[in-house]
This record gives sequence, C-alpha cells and structure tokens, in this order.
Amino acid sequence: MENTQINCPVCQTPIRIEVYSLLSGVKFSCPNCSATVGLCQSSYSKVETAMTKFEELKVKAGRA
Ligand SMILES: [Zn+2]
Repeated sequence: MENTQINCPVCQTPIRIEVYSLLSGVKFSCPNCSATVGLCQSSYSKVETAMTKFEELKVKAGRA
C-alpha cells in the first residue's frame, strides 16, 4: 500500500491516506476537524497521472 499525506483543505492538518483507496473512491476524514477528503473529478486525473509516473519509475528501478 502506498501511504501518503495530504493537507486538510479546511484546517491544513496532514491527513494520512492510502493512494489506492483514494483512487477507488474511498474518502478520508480529517482527524482534527472531521472534514471529508475524497477525489473530485478534476483531481482524479492528476492523481492518476502521478500514480502512472510512479509505476513507471518503479518499473525502471526494477530493471536497473
Ligand atoms: Zn481538518
């Protein structure tokens, strides 16, 4: 599982998220203010692009 952090859009508290869960549509709650963080349509493509690049890097690293 790839874990990462994003800042809460409301209070800027770092929220630990699992990228694959997020991509699957899972929403995460801010531990501080209980705001819900999930992917909207516009950010989905951004995360997907980032993950694709990340996978490509892993493949390259594996071959090196
Ligand atoms: Zn918050």
